[in-house]
Amino acid sequence: MTTISAALISWFERNKRDLPWRNDRTAWKTLLSEIMLQQTRVDQALPYFEKFMLRFPTVLDFAKADQDEILLLWEGLGYYSRARNLHKTTQLIVEQFDGEIPDNYESLLLIKGIGPYTAAAVSSLVFNESRAVVDGNVIRVISRLYGIDEDVKTSAVKKRIQEIVDSLIDSTKPGLFNESLMELGATICKPKNPLCSECPIQHECVAFSQARTEYLPYKAKKAKVPQHRIGIGVILNQLGEVLIAKRPDDKMLGGLWEFPGGKQEKGEDIETTIHREFEEEIGIKIKLIKPYSPIKHAYSHFKISLEAWNGTWISGEPKAKESSEIRWIPIHDLDKYAFPKANRKLIEQIMKDF
Ligand code: SF4
Repeated sequence: MTTISAALISWFERNKRDLPWRNDRTAWKTLLSEIMLQQTRVDQALPYFEKFMLRFPTVLDFAKADQDEILLLWEGLGYYSRARNLHKTTQLIVEQFDGEIPDNYESLLLIKGIGPYTAAAVSSLVFNESRAVVDGNVIRVISRLYGIDEDVKTSAVKKRIQEIVDSLIDSTKPGLFNESLMELGATICKPKNPLCSECPIQHECVAFSQARTEYLPYKAKKAKVPQHRIGIGVILNQLGEVLIAKRPDDKMLGGLWEFPGGKQEKGEDIETTIHREFEEEIGIKIKLIKPYSPIKHAYSHFKISLEAWNGTWISGEPKAKESSEIRWIPIHDLDKYAFPKANRKLIEQIMKDF
């Protein structure tokens, strides 16, 4: 065992956070938590994890659930493809492995939807296989520990970090080692103002010894994030029902419902955008009555200003041309459907009128 891994494990055993997926660790708890924690902070994921474990205590419960129910429970956690893909993955586990999550890295990798990171996490944390797990926290710790000043997003640097962690891993306690390294990144070696005075491997750390912790990990600057104005219509029919559309599974936010609309084109005002989108994508004519307050929302690669109007249906039979399904629903049923976050903020405004 290296000095570094021994120091990390000893620190972890004294300082680890009490997290629900660590109690009576199972492969299903680990798989679910690892998927939820991708691009999501622990405090955000915690209530979702508890809710999901209550509703889906086993892989089988999750696999046989309806996708709409899963997406509704996932609502607010973001990156919805994770929920859809996990659903498909669990169905494959049921079909190919009789509902048992495989207990080794190679078999886990055979399942569509489980990549090297998740396979390493499940096989090492649950089944104690010697596989290094490299997530964003680990990349940060290693880049500081070894003073790596090249861009950590390049595949060459990622490969180098993987090799370093492979060389550090304690093959007698691989799960503990992986958890301790990830935990150090999450709680001590934080992105800003790392708590170096509390760090068990400070004496080995190049960034600390050279006072470069605030400059590492190095990431090349991102291009400016594009901004879009999205015009959408909250359109009622003669029965007072509202029109909603389901996004296709293969699109961003796939499987979620939304109010129809789309991106503003050059030279259009937002009302023209909404009229055009309804004619092109739903095949109906509408009358717009009143605007709601715009809603700003940031996704990972772009930002939007969601500019909605309420209005009424005038003519034409609605068709799902760009969406996978459309429905007229009672306005008070909006809570029964999974919507993206920005639409959900809009629903809060809509419901003030009802
Ligand atoms: Fe991170 Fe500071 Fe520890 Fe280095 S000494 S690994 S920068 S917390």
